[in-house]
Amino acid sequence: MMDVINPATGEREDTIDAHSESDVEAAIERASAAFETWQDEPIRKREELLAAAGDVLRENKREYAETMTREMGKPISQAIAEVEKCAWVCDHYAEHGSAYLEANSHASPPGSDVKTVYDPLGPILAVMPWNFPFWQVFRFAAPHLTSGNVGLLKHASNVPGCAQAIEDVFRQAGYPDGVFQSLLIPSDLVDDIIEDERVKAATVTGSGPAGRAVASTAGDQLKKSVLELGGSDPFIVLDDADIDDAAETGAWARNQNGGQSCIAGKRFLVHTDVYDEFLERFVDEIESLTVGDPTDEETDIGPQAREDLMDDLHEQVEASVEAGADVLTGGEPMDREGAYYPPTVLTDIPEGCPADSEETFGPVAAVYELDDEAAIVAKANDTEFGLGASIWTTDRERGQRLAREVDAGCVYVNQLVKSDPRVPFGGVKESGYGRELAREGMLEFVNRKTVWVE
Ligand code: NDP
Repeated sequence: MMDVINPATGEREDTIDAHSESDVEAAIERASAAFETWQDEPIRKREELLAAAGDVLRENKREYAETMTREMGKPISQAIAEVEKCAWVCDHYAEHGSAYLEANSHASPPGSDVKTVYDPLGPILAVMPWNFPFWQVFRFAAPHLTSGNVGLLKHASNVPGCAQAIEDVFRQAGYPDGVFQSLLIPSDLVDDIIEDERVKAATVTGSGPAGRAVASTAGDQLKKSVLELGGSDPFIVLDDADIDDAAETGAWARNQNGGQSCIAGKRFLVHTDVYDEFLERFVDEIESLTVGDPTDEETDIGPQAREDLMDDLHEQVEASVEAGADVLTGGEPMDREGAYYPPTVLTDIPEGCPADSEETFGPVAAVYELDDEAAIVAKANDTEFGLGASIWTTDRERGQRLAREVDAGCVYVNQLVKSDPRVPFGGVKESGYGRELAREGMLEFVNRKTVWVE
């Protein structure tokens, strides 16, 4: 049984039957059988079905958004935008999938023809989180179903309705039986699935422990894995930044989706010359955000997705304050029903406290005052994570140069870190490995086969 607890009220709204081990066995068998024909379909056919999935998403976006809001508290306007973004990634691979998979010719001796061709691998397990419960799944499914793989989704246990709805998107779009299936299972069944010889690879988006568990089982089986884990992204404000723009974007970079994003700006590294000005503007922006009922179109920040996660976040704040951090705004769970935590700003962050060294997965910004560019870069890299970074400067060349010095999978100058279907996305260090999206992402789960014809 999987309980759907609405985090805005704390009430159980639904109970969904979990799948049994024999259901899982049947699903893997269906996936394996489906792969035999799916891989031989012309790619044009797979692109057309993906375009149809995009249409299904657009036609039902309100319903899907409401499911997200009910299960994990995402404000409805952001939930609708998330469904629209899923339709976009479907459109993107429907349009570009075959070009991304076109054979690549190589220099070769006269008379020979040498190419790399891209063959699908088979059933792939995707272990996915609750924070962007549609987007994370479509970011996986759109490229990898189109390249001829088939998908098995193990979604987070608090979003079973989203998992069912996504399976239904593909069914409504006309995908053959078995090409995409949701397994409603607890995480302790994941190892057995990865170990099954019919399953060829695995990907996980989530916490470090989940990533390590999946990667070690996949590694033991010599199966490919892609990991998209946490982050503690620096948001760098240099002395020549447009402060209004940086403060406004920074407030949103930290607080969209209730701050529950791996690529949220978490550590704000501000040059001392503009620190006071930035901080004042930043706190103003943060205090202007509306916290409340996620079904209200005007709400910016809803409840945290689960009460236990809010408690963990508050413990991180308390431990940071005990270590010496100052709270400029927020800092205590809100006195109302539901898992509501206010947007919070901490300053004077002691080295090694949770706000400094751990990922804070909620609306808590840690703001630092730093003397110069060298100190800012050193602090940006002083983390076990390496997902994204955002740099604010009116000097684009300076931005380009510093981007090369930051250890991260993606650096955005004068823009918040975001995932975009056209652009590769992923991290280094403990943020994981491999890439999603664009051509690079699509090529993660294919056999790059060299064919030499003499
Ligand atoms: P988890 O990493 O535990 O959950 C993500 C997914 O991994 C879920 O489907 C979960 O299943 C599954 N999972 C968990 N443990 C294992 C395991 N040992 N083997 C295989 N699969 C596993 O995240 P939480 O929901 O517990 O959130 C905790 C923290 O993780 C957050 O506070 C945040 O720091 C980070 N996180 C990062 C995300 C990101 O986008 N990078 C997304 C979500 C969380 P189940 O739900 O059944 O446990």
